Amino acid sequence: MKKTFVIVALLLIVGSSVAQSLRVGAAMRVITPNPLLPVSGGVGTPKKATEKKGDLFARALVLEQGQTRIAIVSVDNIGWPSALGNRSRALIKSIPPENVLIGATHTHSAPDAYGFPDQNGNSLADLAYLDNCVKLIADAVNEAVGKLEPASLKIAVGEAKGKIAYNYYADQLYDPRCGVIQAIGTAGKNKGKAIATLVNYAIHPEVLGSGKGILSPDLCGPLYDRIEAKAGGMAIFMNGAQGGMVTADVRRENGQEANTWEECIRIGELLADEALRIVSTAEVLENPALSCAARTVEFPVDSEMMRYIIKKSPLKFELSSTGKVAAQINLLTIGQAQVLTIPGEALPNIGYYVKRHMPTKYPFLFGLTNDAFGYILTKVDFNSFKRYDYISRTSLGEMTGEIYMDAVLKWLAESPKPVTAAK
Ligand SMILES: [Zn+2]
Repeated sequence: MKKTFVIVALLLIVGSSVAQSLRVGAAMRVITPNPLLPVSGGVGTPKKATEKKGDLFARALVLEQGQTRIAIVSVDNIGWPSALGNRSRALIKSIPPENVLIGATHTHSAPDAYGFPDQNGNSLADLAYLDNCVKLIADAVNEAVGKLEPASLKIAVGEAKGKIAYNYYADQLYDPRCGVIQAIGTAGKNKGKAIATLVNYAIHPEVLGSGKGILSPDLCGPLYDRIEAKAGGMAIFMNGAQGGMVTADVRRENGQEANTWEECIRIGELLADEALRIVSTAEVLENPALSCAARTVEFPVDSEMMRYIIKKSPLKFELSSTGKVAAQINLLTIGQAQVLTIPGEALPNIGYYVKRHMPTKYPFLFGLTNDAFGYILTKVDFNSFKRYDYISRTSLGEMTGEIYMDAVLKWLAESPKPVTAAK
């Protein structure tokens, strides 16, 4: 009797450890329009592109442990609204929609994905292109699911050194921390090889911008290429709290700026090298615990311009009867690391504040993820400095930052702290 119990217990332990082991898959799709489309740097009429520098991508990283499966998707665009993201989620049958995180890299040299209306309420967005992107994003995730394989992880957060980002409004006010998650195969032909490397860093990829006639992933393209050449596997970039106005450090002497493709290469490669340096000394986590939670947070739309975009866009954004928009926010734990998403461009002080309240040495913030509702300021920053006129106008309203911070801090307090290994 006792013996049977021991054997059953043993079988249960063996069974659960097999089922619980971490698996990772990665896949991507090129989403460069052919022929090229005008590119959008935000509100306003998109500008004609006559050449491309690199391709635009949708890149998907899928993590699985036991019953938990999560997709992290990055799209080379200025922002990716949930009106499009939810259509991809519906095409991804093997992952619950709330476990699919879709972020935008914030390149300013990609087609309009919002359907920004002009003064007459007309939009120039190419809906057929966006329909195709919806499908390609789901294809990338579904392929990554099919490629799931046993993996370990390396996770690190460290300061990226060198001339990468700065704050255009006040040069020191930015977060130099770069978070890196690297998945390494533990069996089969990928044993010991990198399957994917995720880089999380706050920066505006607007070296080229939208006024040069160039369609491009901006500095993210050279970042992908460098990581893949040096580490192997697939690179994926998730932006951070880069609002008002953390941008690429293209400064030259005498107030000049280097808004060139060569500068995209310099910064993208430097950030890639720094990310690989930061993760190089991280310990290998054989079976880090994985969890994914999602909440919906509602934000009032006080800004007249944002209301106009929401109402007039052909993408049919949803506005509640009380004039609010709803955003999916995710909280992930990956080993000792924690990841929170931001549905827009949070200012760096909000990023610091939220990271400080995350009970981990490895805080990750995925900005512009699951939605991109413009800038997110604290109520005291809103409509304050003259410098903040533009970012106040292109935010939902005075309370957006407060609502976000209150919601996530309450959530963090209610959530279990991250642990190192899966049980
Ligand atoms: Zn921006």
